[in-house]
Amino acid sequence: RAAAAKRAAFRPAVTLDGHRVEVAANVRKPEEAVEAVAAGAEGTGLVRSEFLFDGREQPPTEEEQFALYRRLAEGFGGLPVVLRTLDAGGDKPLRFVHHPVEANPFLGLRGLRLSLAEPALFRAQVRAALRAGRHGDIRLMLPMVDGLADLRAARAIIERERLALATPPLEVGIMVEVPSAAVMADQLAREADFFSIGTNDLTQYALAVDRLHPTLGARSDALDPAVLRLIDMTVKAAHGRGRWVGVCGNLAADAMAAPILVGLGVDELSVSIPNVAALKAQIRGMTMLAAEKVARAALDCATAAEVRALPALRELAHA
Ligand code: PEP
Ligand code: MG
Repeated sequence: RAAAAKRAAFRPAVTLDGHRVEVAANVRKPEEAVEAVAAGAEGTGLVRSEFLFDGREQPPTEEEQFALYRRLAEGFGGLPVVLRTLDAGGDKPLRFVHHPVEANPFLGLRGLRLSLAEPALFRAQVRAALRAGRHGDIRLMLPMVDGLADLRAARAIIERERLALATPPLEVGIMVEVPSAAVMADQLAREADFFSIGTNDLTQYALAVDRLHPTLGARSDALDPAVLRLIDMTVKAAHGRGRWVGVCGNLAADAMAAPILVGLGVDELSVSIPNVAALKAQIRGMTMLAAEKVARAALDCATAAEVRALPALRELAHA
């Protein structure tokens, strides 16, 4: 029985009517790569690189980062490794950076904005990733992109470093986690190689509810039709330009969400390692036809509670 379960974990997640969805794992450290692959993950859709920078007095050197990214790439043995560049700032300050005092840190110098304000920091990370790209399938993902200007600025730096190192090009994608990026996804899809939707922040910004708020948590359900419509827009825009779309926020691991995300056409779901096998099994138990139908019904709901009460969704979630 255990051996059969293990074999099933490695099979791809294909719906009963033949639609394939990639299932990847969210990781932090290189040690987790082996664990993720053993759990059946088809790569990683989100490497949270913050662990390298947190709590340190000095930033990690390019060499130190290169060694870790190389281990990650090798640990995944050629499977895709979506390495998110530093997503600090805001509520996650760094000791070695001078942060401005901000009244609303989540609306401040965060993610890619901080990397562009600290180009030496960004360059070292980019160079380490470019070099590690020789040892596996590393792709760069930029967090907190709010529009084309920052994407272009980041790509220019990445290309300059690549030419200096003479390394092969890496795919450069963006997180869609700011509503403006979802709304402008058709334009962004011209210049981003892929999208990954960060539903944690997308929900916070779309519904104007702080993701860490002590009492408003119940209001911020990522299955809110407002969030689902932003996801729908993003997927349509991406596919219109031949780009793939993943979801790497916590929503991807919600059994009620998987049928909707699959039905909206999301190509890849990246979840924490313990959720990989169950998600693959759930996808194998549904049809794309049913998922598309329930996704359309969800887009027409008025509230998250209505979405969660859809009988067809409850059936697909518990199948
Ligand atoms: C997200 O915002 O959904 C996400 C995946 O990134 P993080 O939770 O690290 O902000
Ligand atoms: Mg985020």
